[in-house]
Amino acid sequence: MSDAPVIVWLRQDLRLADNPALHAAAQTGRPLVLAYILDDVTPGRWRLGGASRWWLHRSLEALASAIAKRGGVLVLRRGDAHSELRTLIGECGASAVFWNRCYEPYIIERDKRLVEDLERSGVETRRFNGALLNEPWEAKTKLGEPFKVFTPYWRAAQQRPARTPLPAPKRLKGCDTPLRSDPLGEWNLLPRRPNWAAPFETEWKPGEAGALEALQRFVSERLQGYAEGRDRMGLAATSRLSPHLHWGEISPVQVRAAIESAAHAKPALQRCADKFLSEIGWREFSYNLLYHCPTLPERNWRSQFDAMPWADDEPALEAWQRGRTGYPLVDAAMRELWNTGTMHNRARMVVASFLVKHLMIDWRRGEDWFWDTLVDADLANNAASWQWVAGSGADASPYFRIFNPVAQGERYDPDGVYVRRWVPELARLPNSVIHQPWQAERQILTAAGVELGRTYPLPIVEHAAARARALAAYARISSAA
Ligand SMILES: Cc1cc2nc3c(=O)[nH]c(=O)nc-3n(C[C@H](O)[C@H](O)[C@H](O)COP(=O)(O)OP(=O)(O)OC[C@H]3O[C@@H](n4cnc5c(N)ncnc54)[C@H](O)[C@@H]3O)c2cc1C
Repeated sequence: MSDAPVIVWLRQDLRLADNPALHAAAQTGRPLVLAYILDDVTPGRWRLGGASRWWLHRSLEALASAIAKRGGVLVLRRGDAHSELRTLIGECGASAVFWNRCYEPYIIERDKRLVEDLERSGVETRRFNGALLNEPWEAKTKLGEPFKVFTPYWRAAQQRPARTPLPAPKRLKGCDTPLRSDPLGEWNLLPRRPNWAAPFETEWKPGEAGALEALQRFVSERLQGYAEGRDRMGLAATSRLSPHLHWGEISPVQVRAAIESAAHAKPALQRCADKFLSEIGWREFSYNLLYHCPTLPERNWRSQFDAMPWADDEPALEAWQRGRTGYPLVDAAMRELWNTGTMHNRARMVVASFLVKHLMIDWRRGEDWFWDTLVDADLANNAASWQWVAGSGADASPYFRIFNPVAQGERYDPDGVYVRRWVPELARLPNSVIHQPWQAERQILTAAGVELGRTYPLPIVEHAAARARALAAYARISSAA
């Protein structure tokens, strides 16, 4: 039997537990080479955004130290992954490469070429599912078609057999050849001058240990009440697992197992557990959509939206990005994003609807901004969600559903906690006008230290007029279709 090393190529699976590729490689008993390659070539326009780079740096630090504790080394390389991998194989004499699949269309294409190339030269490749509950080709309609609607998709997906999480290998036996590894600091993933990510350092704990802590905290403190609390923007009621799931610091299989075991131990949790798992289901559904429609991040799923007269309005886009639209909820959310690298899900829906419908700016401009600023930036979830809000996607929210940022604020941030946290210049306004300061009487504004147009902007568009304009544009593209 060959004793040549096996390369475990780590990608969006930066963890040791429940890592099917690593587990299978460790089972061979052969020496392992654990490698991560930073490839800014293959993704083209979807190269990692700024917030993702910060996360990746911290996550790789955590992974390298977890690997070292088990006697192994993480080899870091940078460049076109195909040729870097070939070089690494040559250096260590590996006869096999194992990895967990990714589903970004450019990665699928690259991996196909790579598999052909490696197998032609006698290097074995084995690919595993380490990122999803089900592969995107596994849950199909009765006619064998991919699902386009969430509810039947999730029903079918839940019928499929569940896998049990795999343990982390106890020891990681390395190979004898010393291998060069890039110093992580030289990759310049962390921002400097200015270090806009400074607040992220206290907000997040990237890495597998941080992911497990977030899961445990969620199960013990937040699962109960999730169904009601998840929409309240001022509460810490959700799991905050999305960046950990994106980078594969935890798997959805581990998450599902923990949630199901909590509900099994305490049946009163079942309703909240089902609601939470259905959100994991939306993640699965987004991957299913991206896999079957690889143009999802760039093109309208419904081609009638190609005729939408998007506005070319840079000042409005900038006001949105900077949280200066004059709508407190929108501004709070955009500032939360800038300061923390995340945004509450309901707030994401409100700001996305505001950009696309109130400002009539192409959803792809918003998608780009989120790609750069979110620590959980994820091609499938981001594209599917933007198209959902824009109305251009599969199983999308209808275009005529236009979120009213004032009504959304009054309903889901009734005590103004969220707005006060992120828009401190409005903090002293009473609840009655916190979501629409332009309705406040002059004395109330003065007493709260607010001068509209000076300390805080006046609304950049008027809700009723913006709504009418969006509906008219939609009526035109619908009648033309
Ligand atoms: C315009 C827009 C853009 C978005 N972009 C992204 C993105 O780039 N990356 C991303 O991970 N999520 C994205 N989402 C989905 C969602 O907002 C986040 O996953 C969620 O807010 C993360 O917080 P949480 O982990 O506390 O969620 P929880 O409520 O605790 O949910 C648990 C997990 O389920 C998944 N999930 C929850 N809601 C959704 C959803 N609507 N679609 C897909 N998966 C979901 C996430 O993996 C999340 O971690 C976007 C939503 C919108 C409306």
